Amino acid sequence: MDQPDPFGFIGLTYDDVMLLPGHTDVIPSEADTSSRLSKRVSVSAPLISSAMDTVTESRMAIAMARHGGLGVLHRNLSIDDQAAHVDKVKRSESGMITNPVTTTPDATVAEVDALCGQFRVSGLPVVEDDGTLVGIITNRDMRFVSPFEKSTTLVRDVMTKTPLITAPEGIDPDGAVAIFAQHKIEKLPLVDDRGRLRGLITVKDFEKTEKYPNATKDAEGRLRVGAAIGFFGDAWERAGALRDAGVDIIVVDTANGDSAGVLDIIRRIKSDSAFDAIDVIGGNVATRSGARALAEAGADAIKVGVGPGSICTTRVVAGVGVPQVTAVYEAALAAREFDVPVIADGGLQYSGDIAKALVAGAETVMLGSLLAGTDESPGELRYVNGKQFKSYRGMGSLGALQTRGKKTSYSRDRYFQADVPSDEQLIAEGIEGQVPYRGPVGSVVYQLLGGLRQSMFYTGARTIPELRVKGRFVRITAAGLKESHPHDIQMVVEAPNYRG
Ligand code: 5GP
Repeated sequence: MDQPDPFGFIGLTYDDVMLLPGHTDVIPSEADTSSRLSKRVSVSAPLISSAMDTVTESRMAIAMARHGGLGVLHRNLSIDDQAAHVDKVKRSESGMITNPVTTTPDATVAEVDALCGQFRVSGLPVVEDDGTLVGIITNRDMRFVSPFEKSTTLVRDVMTKTPLITAPEGIDPDGAVAIFAQHKIEKLPLVDDRGRLRGLITVKDFEKTEKYPNATKDAEGRLRVGAAIGFFGDAWERAGALRDAGVDIIVVDTANGDSAGVLDIIRRIKSDSAFDAIDVIGGNVATRSGARALAEAGADAIKVGVGPGSICTTRVVAGVGVPQVTAVYEAALAAREFDVPVIADGGLQYSGDIAKALVAGAETVMLGSLLAGTDESPGELRYVNGKQFKSYRGMGSLGALQTRGKKTSYSRDRYFQADVPSDEQLIAEGIEGQVPYRGPVGSVVYQLLGGLRQSMFYTGARTIPELRVKGRFVRITAAGLKESHPHDIQMVVEAPNYRG
């Protein structure tokens, strides 16, 4: 060992520190929680859902983006399936749908039904082979086709063709709203001067925009989404498929980001102009040098966390890791030199941990266990002794490594075990378990953001950048931690943001 003072370097985590209260004139409801996720993507809530198969598929990603955060789709599934999840998020709402799902006059109503089900839409524009719009078919047109006739009834015989209300591409939102109101329609196809379909605007999208004003959206008004890749096997092909499906952010998601394979794939994506529109997040690291390596490779954000996760056993299996507040602090020192944002990934148990992560140097946090118990996470509710739970497992747990892990681009290369020949030889770095059911993710996000706003009030910070500058830590002892939680009382009613 060649380390000058090995035991003078102390690692601290969330439970080791508290934020000092400071003079304030901030009202919690007025605090601005917007922050930078990556160099080019900002979020109004600094909350990102983990790329885990018990946390983020399209349903969670849609909900997170609507509530101002972002979801990162896990990669423990085939390339096609992951790309389909991206597509679902990108199609879930938009200012204008630029490539709407369409049908043809000769398709059957049964085929339209199937497409509507697959893409969760209620109607389709009808186009000829050359793209000319000839009609629109919606639930209204299909309502009176009997189930027995669906496979023999052609679209051309039931679609709405006269009057077919359309608008020129480039119409502004107010113009579209006026047409919806005048004609009492819910879908407005946009056409070019030769009558070819160029896009679609729906009433539903306007309603969603009003309902979720802080949603994380791209320039075209579609929800933003991230997706995880590895660095091994068909990772490059996966990156291309995700890009083609419209992904906004690619997360090179591994347990040790300071490694040749990870740095190479980040460099490769960043130097390929086909990926110009996509920000790349690299991870995970837990040191200054690790963060510097990712920044130098071109990462647009750096994900920090080796072993803090609630389901993670890396620190006991490998004896490796850095307590999370110190890891974030150290990584941020290097990231700052490159003006690259840091994401604090894993280990957050309470809303108060969010502000601690931000003051330590992160600009957003990534959450697994806090979101795994919500309606929007994959998996069914389980009942145990009358209480409701949802499954939650580490991506390095045997279950996750085995179910789909045989393909190299699934989750095995996250733990650098893509070359392991049989399941018996896998070394797990995570466990499988369950977390209490927590209802819709919207209420969990509301509580987490509410906690963050309280932190901002106590520290006198109007914005996240101000919180990161003004925040001051005090180190606490085991007695301080005990005092911080409810004590000397038997809890009879849990709070929505505190469970014993
Ligand atoms: P949590 O929010 O539950 O404390 O942590 C979630 C984070 O743990 C994820 O975003 C991911 O970085 C990390 N993680 C997920 N599965 C595993 C695993 O099996 N082992 C390790 N070491 N980390 C994991």
